[in-house]
Amino acid sequence: MTDTPRTNREVHLVSRPVGEPGPENFTVVDAAIPELGEGQVLVRNTWMSVDPYMRGRMNDRTDSYIPPFALGEALSGGATGVVVESRAAATPVGTTVMHQLGWRDYAVLDATTVTPIDTSLAPAEAYLGVLGMPGLTAYAGLVEVAPVAKGDVVFVSGAAGAVGSVAGQIARQLGASRVIGSAGGPEKARKLVEDFGFDAAIDYRAGSVAEQLAAAAPEGIDVYFDNVGGEHLEAAIGAMRPLGRIALCGAISQYNATEPVPGPSNLVTAIGKQLTLKGMLVGQYFPLAPQYIQAAAGWLASGALRSEQTVFEGIDRAPDAFLGMMRGANIGKMLVHLAAA
Ligand code: NAP
Repeated sequence: MTDTPRTNREVHLVSRPVGEPGPENFTVVDAAIPELGEGQVLVRNTWMSVDPYMRGRMNDRTDSYIPPFALGEALSGGATGVVVESRAAATPVGTTVMHQLGWRDYAVLDATTVTPIDTSLAPAEAYLGVLGMPGLTAYAGLVEVAPVAKGDVVFVSGAAGAVGSVAGQIARQLGASRVIGSAGGPEKARKLVEDFGFDAAIDYRAGSVAEQLAAAAPEGIDVYFDNVGGEHLEAAIGAMRPLGRIALCGAISQYNATEPVPGPSNLVTAIGKQLTLKGMLVGQYFPLAPQYIQAAAGWLASGALRSEQTVFEGIDRAPDAFLGMMRGANIGKMLVHLAAA
């Protein structure tokens, strides 16, 4: 007998979005919580993440690096929580863990698929943002994929978001001489400079990215961290100095596209400038996580790294959090708070 509920609330995908997703693609349902099997734990989720890659999983594509979400089933994704029932001796009740069964209030998991997290270093939700997958993406992108050398001029798009806001600050830690960010709207542009320490900010909604980038980096750029693709990537290729490096991390401007999108019209200039354009998947860089968490925890403690989050409250708001993130409603990491720790 336990005092934990046997009914769950979870978010299902009910239809596949065509173009921009909407609330009609999701529903929140009650579902039974099964009895635990040997080696399993019941986790009360406290925080869950909504991420751009989830948009790709809502399409019925088999040629992606990650399989599609099933219709009529709970979505999944990064979450933190506390073990409230356990049939796994090594993961007792009370353990704070991270796992991949978000989008629900309670999760039944094999204990081997949960990772205990150190909440003395930072609160649990930091492991979904600055200390987690987005932070590691920023770090790996600028250390391994498009390495920043001392004195480089670095441009980051999506710079007010989870990955981009950390990338700009890490570029500075790695010795960049000038860091330029782009984001949508004047408020975000102001935040980039005033709160995240960028030297200059571009509001991509206010005019041509290429023209604003030329004004912000008259001598050109050495490294571009691409979260957006499209016009941003073309502008960055145009601004690249010889031997420049581009980390192809994301292309969110194209995730809702219903037709093939044109490539950068100036790609041929990458030959003469001897540029490197390299795609990345953060999963390749998970072995760097301990080194990154150590470094980032130090930067957070010293104030060299500042992280922000935008929070929606409760499982019923999870679809709104996802839809909002895709439209730019977030500053820093978009999270859903599900329960007190
Ligand atoms: P995020 O930046 O926190 O949130 C998404 C942001 O995208 C929004 O806040 C919005 O900001 C921006 N956006 C939406 N539509 C846009 C458009 N048409 N043009 C320009 N910006 C647009 O998300 P995140 O988790 O940090 O992810 C950022 C990027 O990194 C995404 O492309 C994601 O797929 C990628 N990523 C890749 C990996 C990997 O392993 N390769 C891992 C993690 C993330 P604005 O208000 O500024 O428009």
